[in-house]
Amino acid sequence: MSIVQNIAEIKKKIDINKVKLVAVTKNHSATAMLEAIAAGVTSVGENRVQEMLLKHPEILAAGKQVEWHLIGHLQTNKVRQAVPLADLIHSVDSERLAVEINKAAGKLGKRQDVLLQVNVADEESKFGIEPGQALQLAKQLSQLEHVRLCGLMTIAPYAEDPETARPVFREFYQLFGELKSLQLANTDIRWLSMGMTNDYLVAVEEGANMVRIGTGIFGSRQY
Ligand SMILES: *Cc1c(COP(=O)(O)O)cnc(C)c1O
Repeated sequence: MSIVQNIAEIKKKIDINKVKLVAVTKNHSATAMLEAIAAGVTSVGENRVQEMLLKHPEILAAGKQVEWHLIGHLQTNKVRQAVPLADLIHSVDSERLAVEINKAAGKLGKRQDVLLQVNVADEESKFGIEPGQALQLAKQLSQLEHVRLCGLMTIAPYAEDPETARPVFREFYQLFGELKSLQLANTDIRWLSMGMTNDYLVAVEEGANMVRIGTGIFGSRQY
């Protein structure tokens, strides 16, 4: 199926007025990205800063506007390149990284929107903060003037059967509620970023309002 058809299929299954669709374009060309934009995609997700830097000028040159989401692990030495381009950084998982983002954003006179990446599958993924430490880190982030915490992101452990992820998503939704109820100053807790090609329907049923879909739009990636 084509990119346009794939997006149409997703729109049949989720209401993209309520759930923000982030089209994950990593390892796909700027041309593919433009096709997705033409089909109504308004947010794209890259997991490497380098790829974002390469594609950004191509999209601009085509006269298109799109929200850029950085969804992959961000190294502190890439922060200065990432902040000027990223509308939302999904992968903040340490105070150290947040402090670097704050510095870079301050220099640009920008407020950087971020999500906290939480590791719900500790043994499988290297990145993300432990669920038990997430609220503490959120409090630390709320002290940073040029960072605005906007919610949480997680990657569920991959399983053939997406139902396997349901309890994980359900628990994560509770953490999201706890974060909201803290009513931290300087934050705007709105986004719960969970769900990928294989499990986004379950994620949305469990309260996700932002899904990150790559393969389901662009087909499988070639590395
Ligand atoms: C690649 C990636 C996705 C998209 O994965 P698909 O299974 O291709 O939909 C979503 N989130 C993150 C963080 C990713 O790195």
